[in-house]
Amino acid sequence: MRDIDRRDIDRRGIDTTLVHGGRDDLTGLGVHAPPVDRSTTYPLASLTGGTADLEHLADGGAAPHSSPVYARLHNPTVARWERGIAELEHTDAAVAFGSGMAAVTATLLAVGAVGRHVVAIRPVYGGTDHLLASGLLGTTTTWARPERVTEALRDDTALVIVESPANPTLALVDLAAVVAQAGDVPVLVDNTFATPVLQRPLDHGATWALHSATKALGGHGDVIAGVVACSEQRARQLRQVRVATGALLDPQAAYLLHRSLPTLGLRVRAAQANAMELAKRLEGRVGVIEVRYPGLPGCDPDGLVDRQMDGPGSLLAIEVAGGHAAAAAVMEHVELFTPAVSLGSTDSLIEHPAGLTHRVVDEQALTETGIRPGVLRLSIGIEDVDDLWDDLDRALGAALDG
Ligand SMILES: *Cc1c(COP(=O)(O)O)cnc(C)c1O
Repeated sequence: MRDIDRRDIDRRGIDTTLVHGGRDDLTGLGVHAPPVDRSTTYPLASLTGGTADLEHLADGGAAPHSSPVYARLHNPTVARWERGIAELEHTDAAVAFGSGMAAVTATLLAVGAVGRHVVAIRPVYGGTDHLLASGLLGTTTTWARPERVTEALRDDTALVIVESPANPTLALVDLAAVVAQAGDVPVLVDNTFATPVLQRPLDHGATWALHSATKALGGHGDVIAGVVACSEQRARQLRQVRVATGALLDPQAAYLLHRSLPTLGLRVRAAQANAMELAKRLEGRVGVIEVRYPGLPGCDPDGLVDRQMDGPGSLLAIEVAGGHAAAAAVMEHVELFTPAVSLGSTDSLIEHPAGLTHRVVDEQALTETGIRPGVLRLSIGIEDVDDLWDDLDRALGAALDG
């Protein structure tokens, strides 16, 4: 395998990294497309070598010296996609998991948060909110406003968790400011909404950048996966947890994720252009009380899109007049949009956070973070924008104008 020269990679543009990331060993293997290695066990050249690799991998090593030994310890197809994600997130390593929530859980376990304290900034994804609020893993959580992180820290705080743009309100949080407030406490940024194309949290001092790869990284609505990008030292802890708990990413899923990577930039930018146009048109639409989209000046008073992102993304939230009933009616009247949870696919989706993705969140927290009964979250795809607008405009008309 050709050694990757770190400086060469850092000089590359993001689209080159998307196309070539993690593929550096293919020429040496004599193939052009990444091979899918489905082996569950591997032949050992010697017992001594097998023992050494087993110890090395169980201890969190990135790659075996001679044999992966057993598929729970290492998989080359998964490792190849992980290297691509690490390059995109401007760091040394990434560790893949069977879902975004498995990635969140592994990070909590790896940092020793069990029996300790977590500071989190709402809103976050409903599943993350539930995992923390329920104390299911033995963590205690203080929910803090972004400017109150320091006050929320305790001696036993294991990590700070933040999302920006946040699911589902698109609230923006100043990542560098949160990192500064956290001091020595490591910060986990859920970067699912932005993708590495639009935001690299480690450049702003975060310790981990986490993705539900189920969303834009997969991008075609057919893979469930999660990944955490971080330093090699932090990655070792995550791999130890992965080996011990078995929250693996299947190699076939890793292959699909790697196949989606070259088009990530094209997809994100095309969807973003559609989202920007729809956000503007929705702002003037009768019956729409509020449009939340980071690309609208009113939604980004501190200029965070310019400061920490390369674009406002492809998610937006609207609040319709008429509350829950009107929101439900909009979902029933769309034809091109699919009424469905999830996001980041080539096709457009519409969902109701209070009733679906954030159903598990405490009622008062929903109110405080603005997840009201009339709020709908839209994940914009890469269809023709006029068709998307016609569909929304008609569904809003049917639902609101009577
Ligand atoms: C979907 C999502 C998750 C959870 O990921 P899964 O792959 O569904 O487990 C976490 N964070 C955010 C922001 C999400 O949108």
